[in-house]
Amino acid sequence: MKRGATKVLFVSSEAYPLIKTGGLGDVLYSLPHAVHARGADIRLLLPGYRALLRQLEQVRILGWMDVRGAEGMVTARVLETRHPDFAFPLWVVDCPPLFDRPGNPYTNASGQDWPDNAERYTVFSRVAAQLAMDGLEHGWKPDVVHAHDWQTGLVAAFLADQPGRPKTVFTIHNLAYSGFFPHGEFIRLHLPNHWWSSEGVEFHGGLSMLKAGIVYADAITTVSPTYAAEICTPEFGFGLDGLLQSRSYKLQGILNGIDENLWNPHTDPRLPAHYSMSRIQPGKRRNKQALLERFMPHADEAALAAPLLGLVGRLVEQKGIDWVLAAIPVLLAETDVRLVLLGSGQVVYEQKLTRLARQYPDRVFVEIGYDESLAHLIEAGADLFLMPSRFEPCGLNQMYSLRYGTPPIVYKTGGLADTVVDANEVTLADASANGFVFDTPDASTFLATIHRALALYRQPARWRRLQQTGMQQSFDWADSAAHYLALYAA
Ligand code: ADP
Repeated sequence: MKRGATKVLFVSSEAYPLIKTGGLGDVLYSLPHAVHARGADIRLLLPGYRALLRQLEQVRILGWMDVRGAEGMVTARVLETRHPDFAFPLWVVDCPPLFDRPGNPYTNASGQDWPDNAERYTVFSRVAAQLAMDGLEHGWKPDVVHAHDWQTGLVAAFLADQPGRPKTVFTIHNLAYSGFFPHGEFIRLHLPNHWWSSEGVEFHGGLSMLKAGIVYADAITTVSPTYAAEICTPEFGFGLDGLLQSRSYKLQGILNGIDENLWNPHTDPRLPAHYSMSRIQPGKRRNKQALLERFMPHADEAALAAPLLGLVGRLVEQKGIDWVLAAIPVLLAETDVRLVLLGSGQVVYEQKLTRLARQYPDRVFVEIGYDESLAHLIEAGADLFLMPSRFEPCGLNQMYSLRYGTPPIVYKTGGLADTVVDANEVTLADASANGFVFDTPDASTFLATIHRALALYRQPARWRRLQQTGMQQSFDWADSAAHYLALYAA
């Protein structure tokens, strides 16, 4: 590492491939690598979840820390490890009573939040803040602490009045998840009294960890320019729009990039067939066949010729799943489309989709769960990608689908608005079109947009051009990493 390189401590509750529930995990893999590749000296701090610890081989104990928990002091072991997928050291907060449990980082097997989430992420943030001050005296003190989402919102607050502290940057990946807890938790966790005000962490009578990040960090970023503007409005602000407006001097939107090595149809080891912009078929078609044959014994010519619509994502209201549910029966009646949907989330959506799959076994294919390989195969094997999110801070799936020659259908919001250009006569003529965008948030406009997309799908030459435009675009981290580095240095 060059002398004088900017030292950055990333603090996150997820990082692909060790632990991931959504886009946050992807970004906390690719962003630290992007800034590392440009000369920064990085450490990435993660909670020692059971699933994560099991993937570590050689670990070194950096030291022990006693920090306040809900009932007295909690001891955390800080581990350092090198992992073959990471170009820099990982630091892990090993605290078995809080993190050594099965399943999801945030919820138990039945999808309920862990009851001690407030304590888990307060302890994690306390350890992070002490490490940011070189609390274990290893001689590595960051210049910048870059914390992500509500789970790490308290890091900037703990550091705020420390003399000689690093700069704090807080990134909002999704404002909808605020880390909101009752006032009782604030008391139980012995958080400083002076934080308890509407100018501090108090939000409608409770504690908002996301708000702590917004209030106390030196700089706030979010993951697309459009979302940065949207969250300052009542429609998208979840009650924090006024605060964000008042902090707009330190807020900016920096579009996420994607890892173009992991998501590359030319080399993706998860695909049965590879393809590239200059020769999309027959590779894409072989992936379509493999995808269909995962769900049906034999994909005949009729199934292969019919447009295949794909969806991958969390099954929550944000993602417009109710619009998809409303559109499916109409599409099945009026067109020959097939659909393949992968996701998990709200039980009612899971049940409704499963019911549709049972009702139309040769046209609707549903996998409830989390499957990284199937996600890649859907991006590659589908003809169109559905992503009608009501709001979308950045969204990665639409960028993956563009790269895989699978034009996305999106609502005009957040990062979707910043990355997808609607196909119309003008944009098709100047070759800027790469997908389909609708700007009225309802099911019938979504449906009409799918029909519009299907009409273009039936014109192979124009369709190929649309695919190629998306495939040749770069969504790498170069520009965004430069923005972050400039922010770290400011
Ligand atoms: P969000 O962060 O809101 O979940 P993004 O589009 O930014 O949405 O990122 C979602 C990421 O999670 C993508 O990498 C996507 O492929 C992945 N993903 C979401 N749901 C699943 C699933 N059920 N199986 C596999 N990957 C999934």
